[in-house]
Parts: sequence; C-alpha cells; structure tokens
Amino acid sequence: MTTPSDHAVHIIGAGPSGLMAAETLAGAGARVVVHDRMPSVGRKLLMAGRGGLNLTHTEDQSAFLARYAEAAEPISDWLDAFSPDDMTRWAQGLGQPTFVGSSGRVFPRAMKASPLLRAWLTRLAGLGVEIRTRSRWTGWRGEALTFDTPEGERVEHPAATVLALGGASWPRLGSDGLWVPALEGAGVAVSPLVPANAGFDVAWSDILSERFAGQVLKPASLTFGDQTVRGEMVVTRYGVEGGAIYALSAHLRAAIAAEGSATLVVDLRPDLTEAALAERLSRPRGKDSMTNHLRKAGGLSPVAVALLREIGDIPPGFDKLAKRIKAVRLKLTGIQGLERAISTAGGVEFAALNPSLMLTSKPGVFVAGEMIDWEAPTGGYLLQASLASGVVAAQGVLGWQASQTADTSPA
Ligand SMILES: Cc1cc2nc3c(=O)[nH]c(=O)nc-3n(C[C@H](O)[C@H](O)[C@H](O)COP(=O)(O)OP(=O)(O)OC[C@H]3O[C@@H](n4cnc5c(N)ncnc54)[C@H](O)[C@@H]3O)c2cc1C
Repeated sequence: MTTPSDHAVHIIGAGPSGLMAAETLAGAGARVVVHDRMPSVGRKLLMAGRGGLNLTHTEDQSAFLARYAEAAEPISDWLDAFSPDDMTRWAQGLGQPTFVGSSGRVFPRAMKASPLLRAWLTRLAGLGVEIRTRSRWTGWRGEALTFDTPEGERVEHPAATVLALGGASWPRLGSDGLWVPALEGAGVAVSPLVPANAGFDVAWSDILSERFAGQVLKPASLTFGDQTVRGEMVVTRYGVEGGAIYALSAHLRAAIAAEGSATLVVDLRPDLTEAALAERLSRPRGKDSMTNHLRKAGGLSPVAVALLREIGDIPPGFDKLAKRIKAVRLKLTGIQGLERAISTAGGVEFAALNPSLMLTSKPGVFVAGEMIDWEAPTGGYLLQASLASGVVAAQGVLGWQASQTADTSPA
C-alpha cells in the first residue's frame, strides 16, 4: 500500500534530534513527516526541563569537546554545524532568552522546556512539517518503512529517512531501545545500550541510607583512578548519584563491568589542605562531642560526618583524621538501571556511518541523537550533541538527495 506521504523525508522520533532534523529539512524546502510512537512529542525534553533545561555550556571548545571522550572527533564536526552559540541563538529565536549559570551552564530563563517546545512546534507547523503521533516504526519491508498505528499497519516509501529514536533510558518517556534488532538485522553495528549518567550502588548501613538519603555533599571532590572532579554528590538509599558522579560514570561503569566493583575516593574538605585541616582539628575541643568538633572545627556537614563514620572508627591523631577526611574510600558495587539513567551509552557505531550520518549499509537512511554511540556527562552536552547531530543528518539528507538527482540527470 502506498500513501500520500510517499516521497517525503520521514523522520522517526520526535525528540530534540528528530525535531531539529525536521526544522533543518523543512527550512530547506523539503516535505517532512515526523513520527513518534508516543501520544505526544518531546517527552524526554520536557522531563529535562524539570531540572531547568541545561541547553549547553559556555566552556571553551577544547574543554567542551573533551566531554565526549572518544567521540570528540566526529562530534567536533557536529558542533561546527550547530555550535553552543547557535544553540543559544536558536533558543532566543524561539522566544526563550537564556542565562549562564555560575558553573558556565546555559539555561532558558523560563527554566523549563514547555514554552520552548510549544514555540518550536508552532515554527515546525509553519514550515509545513507533519507530525504523526502513535506511529511506531517497526522496521523495514524491503526499502519501505513499516509503522504500527491505531489504524493498523502503515507502509511508507520515503525519499530519505532520519532515524532519531533516542537511547533506552527512561523508556516510559518513549525511547525504549527496541530499534536495535531492526538495525542489526540490516547489518548495522550497534554497541550494547547501557546506562550513562546514572547512580551507583553502595552497601550503606541502615543509619546512613535511612537518615541521610537525599542529602547533598557539596562541594565534593571525587577521584577515581587518575580522574578527579569537583561538584556535588547526592547520597541515596541505594548509593550515590549527582553531577560529580555522572562526570566519572563512564570510567566507574567500565571498572565495575571488568572487576565487579570500583573504589571512589571522596575528599570531604576539598578547599583545605591536609595540614590546614589537621591544624583546625587540633584546636581545643572543649565539651564538644567528636561529631560537633568535626562540624565546627573541621567544617564538615552532617552528611560528611556520616560518610566519615560509615567507613570506620574515627582514627586517633589529627594528622590521620585529616588524611581520612580527605580520602574517604567508597566501594561502588553496581550501576543503576536504564530506567532511571539520564542518558544512554552505546548505540549505532560511528564505523557504520559516513560523516553525514548516513548508514553506509543503507543509503538514504540517516541517524541522529542519542541513538548513536557517544556519551557525555550532564552539563548541556547531551542536548547540544543531539540537536547538532539533527542538523548534520538533515544536511546529509539534502546533500544525498542532490547527489542522487545529479546522478540521474542526463549528461
Ligand atoms: C531526567 C532527565 C534530565 C535530562 N536533563 C538534561 C539537561 O538538562 N540537559 C541535557 O543536555 N540533556 C538532558 N537530558 C538528556 C536529553 O533529554 C537527551 O539526551 C535527549 O532528549 C536525546 O534526544 P534524542 O532526540 O536523541 O532522543 P529522545 O529525546 O529520547 O527522543 C527519541 C524519540 O523517539 C521516539 N521513538 C523511539 N522509538 C520509536 C519508534 N520505534 N517509533 C517511533 N518513535 C520512536 C520516542 O518516543 C522519543 O520521543 C536529560 C534526560 C533525562 C532523562
């Protein structure tokens, strides 16, 4: 069966990367149909808005790119196509002025995603983009795309396709990773989808997990191997989470996979040297309990004292105590699952793509966003790369279509 939308560019996935591909293609005059399996679009973007919607970061380009680790090289090309400055201008163009937070992160002033998404959908409608919700892509039949819809199966013969299906974190928001078999069946190499920016398990005592769950250690300095990051660490019932943990999560995840556990070293007083801390702790304690002394003289928060006590008795001698406070060793024994991870690592391998993000084994099919095999910590790097890859994939479609036309035109 063919339908009136045959020969449009079909974009599957109406998250940030798919919608940006739609904007770029429709802006260039292409006929675009966007599909999403959910009843409404951009659900993960809206969820990201609950945390203020960190759009991007203002740090310099080399620091920015380093966040993508091994994927920095291809992502550098994406950021040439859509840079952090472009992101800010784009949000402003949708009526969402931005501001730079103290850590250099960029947010819309509204600190949520809904007004931005509303304005974006209005813009897309103005460009003639058709959005079909409850339209779940189920795979290929020959070169055609098949969709499961409330009206039954629908088959489309696309002029080109952009897959922007997301990873597999927070599956109830739409991206469930069920696209993997279809791509593997088409000969596309896909690395296993695993949680990124997720919490880690620690076997806390009952006291720690019951009394201190939800408390934030800030500032904390966390070291794993040769990596040290500063930021916040949140104690949870199951273990630890938070920005500083997420920044180390790729290394921690790999170590746990290889060795079963990872030892994280936490500096509870990163702003003081060991000697300065020992000097403060050596001041007369008077009638204060040790806990109060640690708080008053050592400047430790209640959760910091609890973490210190969690790993053993308070050592005798101020030098030893200062050393311990500056190197609390936590054994992480596992990573939380994909269902609550902020993002997904793994996905379509770069080796399966050309620089325009077209699948080399399936000409005319492009991919974008978190379904590609890259990861980054929180800080705006996820949305930046997702949107930028949407631009690159869309430009890839336009270039590929132009080359097809050139190939078939009479000499
Ligand atoms: C709690 C939370 C907070 C976050 N906060 C931030 C933040 O502040 N800053 C930041 O940079 N990033 C943040 N992120 C990450 C960011 O939201 C994602 O990286 C981004 O949404 C990925 O965009 P995407 O378009 O690749 O995929 P998605 O947004 O996951 O969109 C994919 C779409 O594809 C659809 N789909 C999947 N399979 C099918 C199918 N078979 N057929 C049809 N449709 C399908 C899904 O329904 C979904 O709508 C956060 C994520 C979470 C979970």
